[in-house]
Amino acid sequence: MRVACVGGGPAGLFFALLMRRAGDHRVDVFERSAPDATFGFGVVFSRLSLMRLRRTAPEVVTGILDGGARWEQVEVRRGGESLSTSGHGFAAVERREMLAMLRRHAEEAGVGLHYRTEADAASLLDRYDVVVAADGAGSRSRGAFPDGFGARVTPGGSRYAWFASDRVFEDMTFLFEDSPHGPVAAHAYPYSRDRCTFLVEMDGGSWERAGFTDGHTRGADWTDERAMAFASEVFAGHLRGGRLHGNGSRWLRFPQVSAEHWHHKNLVGIGDAVHTAHFSMGSGTTLALEDAAELVRALTAGDVLDVPAALAAYEEVRRPVVAGVQESAWASRRLWEAPEGHRDASLRELTLRLLTRAGQLSVRQMQRLDRDFERTAGSGFTALPGAPVRDLAELDGSLVEVAAPGGGAQDAAVLVERVRALRRARPEAEVGLVVPAPAADGAAVRHLAELVAEVVCRAPVDIVLAAPRPDDTGAGRVAQMVLAEELRLRTGTRTGYACRPQELEHGWTHVQAGRVDEVWTTGA
Ligand SMILES: Cc1cc2nc3c(=O)[nH]c(=O)nc-3n(C[C@H](O)[C@H](O)[C@H](O)COP(=O)(O)OP(=O)(O)OC[C@H]3O[C@@H](n4cnc5c(N)ncnc54)[C@H](O)[C@@H]3O)c2cc1C
Repeated sequence: MRVACVGGGPAGLFFALLMRRAGDHRVDVFERSAPDATFGFGVVFSRLSLMRLRRTAPEVVTGILDGGARWEQVEVRRGGESLSTSGHGFAAVERREMLAMLRRHAEEAGVGLHYRTEADAASLLDRYDVVVAADGAGSRSRGAFPDGFGARVTPGGSRYAWFASDRVFEDMTFLFEDSPHGPVAAHAYPYSRDRCTFLVEMDGGSWERAGFTDGHTRGADWTDERAMAFASEVFAGHLRGGRLHGNGSRWLRFPQVSAEHWHHKNLVGIGDAVHTAHFSMGSGTTLALEDAAELVRALTAGDVLDVPAALAAYEEVRRPVVAGVQESAWASRRLWEAPEGHRDASLRELTLRLLTRAGQLSVRQMQRLDRDFERTAGSGFTALPGAPVRDLAELDGSLVEVAAPGGGAQDAAVLVERVRALRRARPEAEVGLVVPAPAADGAAVRHLAELVAEVVCRAPVDIVLAAPRPDDTGAGRVAQMVLAEELRLRTGTRTGYACRPQELEHGWTHVQAGRVDEVWTTGA
């Protein structure tokens, strides 16, 4: 098989070396940059993702991790206070080192590596059996076939700048500080003995007030010295004399990339070229490497090469995995983009929000992961509510349902009239609006929350309840969490999270994290 790979980042190099190892295939990688030139500093891997990757290429993964750092703790600092929890299990490596290791393995495997070579996927399609678009979030390969891929690229609302610091933080440390322009956050974690990633994030409004420069228009090597000086000053108390370092570090917006199709003709996308996951989830590289491994499996599975079938099989396996991570990353990103929304939260609440921001962990699970949780960050939190919770059946006949988009009438006037009619018919009854979770999509959630806010403004209700989707299998949990939080913020009305009895620990976690006021069961 003749395979060309556009891009020599983690996805492209891992794919190329595994493909060569899988058989006597010709594999060419075209990378526009020099071999040791890359953006960023340390990247995080979770313990779970490492376990999965180890199965594919154990010695490569072990080699990558050898020079890196590992930690168990997550620390949150704000206003001179801090809280830590344990049992999280992360590792981080320098991106440059990881690429050097992958390059060495690729060379040994006999991959044709062509650095400083800009590639044009369209012109390669006739010369190779398969062309792999591994050219990152700004993929030109994907862009050459807009209808073929149906990609959607949405720039994030906040700005980030990726620095390193020589003051080493021992664990994953989230820092929250105020600047004259507004709140600023940093994610700091070690990736070697003497270096730490120091990723600074600012919401769009604060960033604009500060009058900073947008980094997108600058050359790849440019580091924004003003941004670096600003971050050094804001976080001086944490850096304690340590310095920040740049590597093309500047203010950028994280692009959320998704694509309707991951392949077109014999061109197939892997990694960031077809999907991104916000860096606060630390999953993009893992997804890229897993895509690479799955594509090799699909291409080399049968005795006879059937490219369309192999590409379809690859996409079928990877899509659900990626969708789950993207959903969590979407929820995680929201927390960083709206720091004002968390200003009133206590440090305990903020810590719990951070730990549960992806909608996966509950207090009960954290108690299991960290034996000290109940004494430290989790002091006062409980796995389940201490008293019986209310069930939606109690409000039978006095609930108005707001259908998810596409699921029925969404006219505020109609909903207002229904609420008023209920009030007239049952003047003594508690009246509520129940809102099933939509798809995990920012616009869909916003639309629903705005609609409900308008209804509540014109016809006040006693409670607003975020409910599971009617076909719920637990998969919509993240969207429901985000919806509940938005409803509470926008309606200013008592807000509940209604869940199946077996999901109670998650609902109760949201109450304790200050996302909602109450947890209810659906009786299902
Ligand atoms: C601030 C930040 C922090 C992150 N932190 C983490 C983390 O902690 N953990 C984690 O798992 N992920 C993290 N990520 C995500 C991670 O960087 C990406 O998911 C990962 O790099 C994707 O790998 P890739 O190979 O698909 O794309 P890339 O790494 O972007 O590689 C694409 C390559 O293609 C090359 N290229 C592009 N166009 C062409 C062309 N036309 N011809 C030739 N070459 C071309 C580029 O030069 C580049 O080398 C972070 C991302 C950001 C922005």
